[in-house]
Amino acid sequence: MIQFVSTRGMSAPVSFVEALVRGLAPDGGLYLPERIPRLPEELWQDAGAFDQMAGQALTEFLRGHIDDAAVYTAVSAALDFPVPLQSLSLAGEHTEDLYLLELFHGPTLSFKDFGARTMARLLATRSDVAKEGITVLVATSGDTGSAVADGFSGLPGIRVILLYPRGQVSRLQELQLIAKRPGVRTFAVEGSFDDCQDLVKGAFADLSLRHLQLTSANSINVGRLLPQMSYYLHAVHVLQSPVVFCTPSGNLGNLTAGVLASLAGLPVRRFIAAHNSNSFFPEFLHDSSAAFRRSVRTLSNAMDVGAPSNFERLRRLLPESALTERIEGASIDDEATRACMRRVFEECGQVVDPHTAVGIVAALRYRARHRDDHPVVILSTAHPAKFPETVADAIGIAPPSVARLDDLADTETRVDLLAARPEALRAVLLERDW
Ligand SMILES: *Cc1c(COP(=O)(O)O)cnc(C)c1O
Repeated sequence: MIQFVSTRGMSAPVSFVEALVRGLAPDGGLYLPERIPRLPEELWQDAGAFDQMAGQALTEFLRGHIDDAAVYTAVSAALDFPVPLQSLSLAGEHTEDLYLLELFHGPTLSFKDFGARTMARLLATRSDVAKEGITVLVATSGDTGSAVADGFSGLPGIRVILLYPRGQVSRLQELQLIAKRPGVRTFAVEGSFDDCQDLVKGAFADLSLRHLQLTSANSINVGRLLPQMSYYLHAVHVLQSPVVFCTPSGNLGNLTAGVLASLAGLPVRRFIAAHNSNSFFPEFLHDSSAAFRRSVRTLSNAMDVGAPSNFERLRRLLPESALTERIEGASIDDEATRACMRRVFEECGQVVDPHTAVGIVAALRYRARHRDDHPVVILSTAHPAKFPETVADAIGIAPPSVARLDDLADTETRVDLLAARPEALRAVLLERDW
């Protein structure tokens, strides 16, 4: 049975479920499996349904913690949407064998559905969780909140509290956050995103709230990380070749999942960490004295991260020489991002979101720089319809709408205001009736 250990090595190893519920280790580190199992090669060599493959990969990590059968059931229920691999044909010398792996066909239209939905259903397999109840508390400024709310809503014993900064998310994001869902309450906080995060941190540190079993479900949670290996396996399976993966990155969770899969045996030629102007990690790969920064705002706002939380995991998983050899960094500014969205639309009639565009530019630069004939797979992390203003600004027309987002306009909503004060959040958490 594989235990889960902290990246900082100062806390005791724990079970998977404990790592899932805690999120962060007591020493402030992030959980990782203490050893990486070898995944059977049949997983990407032989045809199989996506959810079966994803389930099998997870059971290799979770055996002894959660029954294999329960893992398969959880994964099939969570990953019940398609994961298409589309070829991207752009004119030019280095553009053969480029692919977009569309990770945005889940209910909230970003790749975060993979981790959040699977994590929720893995937690719900535990009868003790259902009986004693847990509270998922999330501060959000974008895609995470809706993915978590959707993923956890209606599961036995689980209630969700979402906090977002009032007036600081887009209209569509807000509609996704405040849609009324069973077991979920959403609060518009009178403050900034940092205030929301401080409230959450304060609640976790508050001993008088211990009995509520607070859990964070944010992107540092190892329960969100492991299910994200699935689509890396899927792409290698479809292409039947080692692949260069280009991952649009912010907190580096998505990239870390790919690195885990490669350490478990998946043939990955190289990783490209595609960042926007928040370029700490690409800089670090050139110069290990680079330091974390404050984040700057860009068009690809889900990647506006100055201090990527999963950096700590990557350092633990790979020695520095392997890190710089296995991963190439790229930092793409807004101008190049916008130009790429326009080019892809004009040449292929395809509309991509700004995060995916960062990935495409990084992949093309990689191709121009290296003689490497391996297929390059760009992870397409969000649906363009989530970013109507940015898309319209770049290509001159609004992205095609999606029924799921259109329906939101008619969905019943529920949102309350919350002062950015710890007592206000505590009162909400201690309410008995929902
Ligand atoms: C969260 C997010 C990212 C960044 O993923 P990380 O795991 O934080 O690196 C990229 N694109 C979109 C659309 C996202 O929502």
